[in-house]
Amino acid sequence: MSGERILLKQGTVITMDDGLGDFDTADVLVRGEVIEAIGPDLGEPDARVVDARGMIVLPGFVDTHRHTWQASLRGIAADWTLGQYMTGLHLGLSALFEPEDTYAGNLLGAVEALDSGITTLLDWSHNVDTAEHSDAAVRALYDAGLRAVFAHGGGAGMYQVPSDVPHDADVRRVRDRYFSSADQLVTMAMAVRGPQFASLEVTEHDLRLARELGLPISMHVGDGEWGRSRPVTRLNKLGLLGPDITYVHCNTLADDELRDIADSGGTVSIAPDIEMQMGHGWPATGRLTRVGIRPSLSIDTCVSNSGHMFGTMQICLATQRAIDNEQPGASDRPAVSLSSRDVLSFATVEGARACGLDHKVGTLTPGKQADIVLLRTDNTALTPLNNPIGQVVYAAHPGLVDTVLVAGRVVKSGGRLHGDMEARARRLAVASRDALFARTRHTPTLSDARPGGTWQPAPLRTSEA
Ligand SMILES: [Zn+2]
Repeated sequence: MSGERILLKQGTVITMDDGLGDFDTADVLVRGEVIEAIGPDLGEPDARVVDARGMIVLPGFVDTHRHTWQASLRGIAADWTLGQYMTGLHLGLSALFEPEDTYAGNLLGAVEALDSGITTLLDWSHNVDTAEHSDAAVRALYDAGLRAVFAHGGGAGMYQVPSDVPHDADVRRVRDRYFSSADQLVTMAMAVRGPQFASLEVTEHDLRLARELGLPISMHVGDGEWGRSRPVTRLNKLGLLGPDITYVHCNTLADDELRDIADSGGTVSIAPDIEMQMGHGWPATGRLTRVGIRPSLSIDTCVSNSGHMFGTMQICLATQRAIDNEQPGASDRPAVSLSSRDVLSFATVEGARACGLDHKVGTLTPGKQADIVLLRTDNTALTPLNNPIGQVVYAAHPGLVDTVLVAGRVVKSGGRLHGDMEARARRLAVASRDALFARTRHTPTLSDARPGGTWQPAPLRTSEA
C-alpha cells in the first residue's frame, strides 16, 4: 500500500462491520485509498491527523437509485401526483433537455449527495436521448468526485408505454468508451424498463444485452398499479431473474414474487419517501425482511423529496413502525421489528451490496476503500450522545456532515466541500433551470409550465400508461 496517511483520531466509530463492532472512541488510519487500521489507540503513526473528537465516524452512505438529471428541477413536483410527474416531467420537460442541462442536473445532484455524506450514488439515468446526453451525464459524475454507478437508461422515447423499442444500442459505446475496467471510481450498470414499461420480448432482449455487456441491472417493479401485473413472475417464467438485478420499489409485488427475488439472489432498492408521495404503496421494508431480503435505500428524485439519506432513513423507520403498530396485539410486542441499526445498514452496507461494491465499501473495514463520513456532535441535535446509531438515524441531518472522504481523498472538511464544485454546480443549475423554462414557451403542451409552486400539469392516467 502506498499514498498519504490520514489518522482520524479519537472519534466515536460506527463500523457497520459485524466482525469489528463499534467503538465509543477509536482511531481510523487511512493510507492512500484504503482503510489500513481501526482500533482504540493506534498511537502516533506518521500521518496527517484529523481531530475526530466530538465526531461520529461512519461509512459513507450509498444511494442505490436516483434520477440525478432532474436535480435542477428540484421542488417543482412537491404537490404533484405520479400522473402529473409523468406528463410534467418524465414525458414533459425531459424533452427540452440539451446535453448541458443533463450535465448541470447530474453535477448538482451528485455534489448535493456528496455534501450530505452520500459517497456512492447510482445514477438511474433515463433521459439520455443521444450520445451527447450520455457523455454529459458521465462527465458530471466524474467531475463531482464521488463514487458513482452510471446506470444507462436510454431516453424518454423508450418510455412510450408499453414500449416495443429495444434499449438504446449506445449503451455499448458508453461502456467501451468510459468503463473498460470495473475497478474505477465511476462504474456502469444498465437501467432497464422491465415488463411494466416494455413488452416482454423487449425486456428479454434488454436483459440479455446487459448480461452480454457484463453490466449489473436495475429495474423498477412493484410501483403502484403498474406493479400489480406480476412483473417478477413473468420474468421468472422466462428464467430471467438473477443476482445481477436490483429491483426498485417492490411495493405492490405479491409476497411470492418477493420470495422469487430472494431465491434468485436479487437485491432491492426502496425509496420510502417518494413511494408514499407518488402513491406507489406502503414501503415494502417489513415484507422484504420477512423473506430474507435486506433492502438498500434510495432517494429516487429530488423534484419533490429531499436529496439526503437522513430523511430517507427516518421515513423508512417511521413507516415500518406505523405498519407494525397497526397489527393486532402490537401494543404487547416485546420489541420493535426493525431497529435503527437495521436502517443504517440499509443505507450503507446493503447499498454497497446492491451496487455490487460491498467488497470495496459499505463498512469501515481495514482493506476496504476509505469512503468515510464524520458527523459533528457538538450541537443541540446530538448532545448528549446516548445512542450513536439511534441518533444518527433519527436526529442527524446534512448540516452536521463535517468531513467526507472518498477513496481516501478528503473532499469536505470543516463543513465545506473543497474546490469550486459546489458554486459551479449551483450556478450551472440555475442557468439550466432558466433555459428549460424559457424553452417551454415554444412548447404548446408545456405552455403553462413555470417555477414558483403553482404549475399543476394535467395528469397522465397511470392506469392507462
Ligand atoms: Zn425511479
